[in-house]
Amino acid sequence: MKPETLAIHASNLIKNATGDVTPPINLSTTFFRDEDGGYPGGHMYSRVSNPNRSALENTLAKLEYGEDAAAFASGNNCGMSLFQALKPGSHIIAPDDMYWGIKKQLLTIFNDTLKFDFVDQTDLDLINSSIKPNTKLIWIETPSNPLLKVTDIEEIGKIAKANNITLACDSTFASPILQNPILLGADIVMHSSTKYLGGHSDILGGILVTAKKDELWERIKNIQQTGGAVPSPFDCFLLCRSIKTLAYRMKGHCENGKLVAQYLVNHPKVEAVFFPGLETHPQHEIAKKQMKDFGGMMSFLVKGNVEETNKVVNKVKLFAQATSLGGVESLIEHRYSIEGPDSKTPKNLLRISVGLEHVDDIIADLEQALG
Ligand SMILES: *Cc1c(COP(=O)(O)O)cnc(C)c1O
Repeated sequence: MKPETLAIHASNLIKNATGDVTPPINLSTTFFRDEDGGYPGGHMYSRVSNPNRSALENTLAKLEYGEDAAAFASGNNCGMSLFQALKPGSHIIAPDDMYWGIKKQLLTIFNDTLKFDFVDQTDLDLINSSIKPNTKLIWIETPSNPLLKVTDIEEIGKIAKANNITLACDSTFASPILQNPILLGADIVMHSSTKYLGGHSDILGGILVTAKKDELWERIKNIQQTGGAVPSPFDCFLLCRSIKTLAYRMKGHCENGKLVAQYLVNHPKVEAVFFPGLETHPQHEIAKKQMKDFGGMMSFLVKGNVEETNKVVNKVKLFAQATSLGGVESLIEHRYSIEGPDSKTPKNLLRISVGLEHVDDIIADLEQALG
């Protein structure tokens, strides 16, 4: 089945006693055993598994062409669980432009137990030369936050395979509709389901999907089930509900995104636009090769200093000045002040998540704010 169809039906496939077409929310934390000590419903205790989480994991495994999936209480917890699953002393090649919250985990939580380098992963030679005997993981993020750098999943997959290194891809900005890293050679895909998967800025969650159930995956599943940072049945239910419209929401984000990027490129007060759908984007050809479309995430540099940049952000009326992304409502944020004083993000950079409002209204708001 095609993604549009899978997104609607994959979480509905569980038949239950009351014959619901849409699965109910199973709040029970514990499940009956039968006389043989088995679990006739397939679940034992809700931290280990529950029907709503299974429906969500099953849906994501299908949408990302993987063998299995593990849902977590946040996107960040996907990073935590994967890093925890590595043996102490393992080396990670991470991107130089990286979601700051997961970068912060490496710098402040795993700084004693793991080794890591932040590398410009658009340079394949640099990736090759960064490999050490203890390199166990290449973590990529494409398109990246906040500079929308695009890395070549297929080429990095070849490097990872040749060196027996796990390749994990944070694919949050793309969603499973626009990009499927497992089909391009990644071993693990990550999504912050808080973003496009949830799509309405009201669920916090994360999910990992694996190409195969290998030993590393067994350790990740154990961390999920025994560590216990799992999403609630209600969150899983909401996510399954949101994912049913994901393919069509993505069409809208992509359509609006292209028009907004084009508008910004032509604006005299804009110094640069970072959007993989622009022909001038340095990795546009790679983006075209590995993405079905380019999404609604972009950032741009305001001509001027930080005060002038803040003026723009303070003048928006339709856009919400708030962090996060991927919801139906357009968001704008001054990324540097979110990331803090160590941030390498330019001080005149604004990141926008183009929502599903009519594009004329979105552009009119930017026009009055920039004008
Ligand atoms: C938001 C985000 C995360 C972290 O997800 P949370 O759900 O906020 O914990 C990780 N990677 C990217 C690219 C994100 O945008």
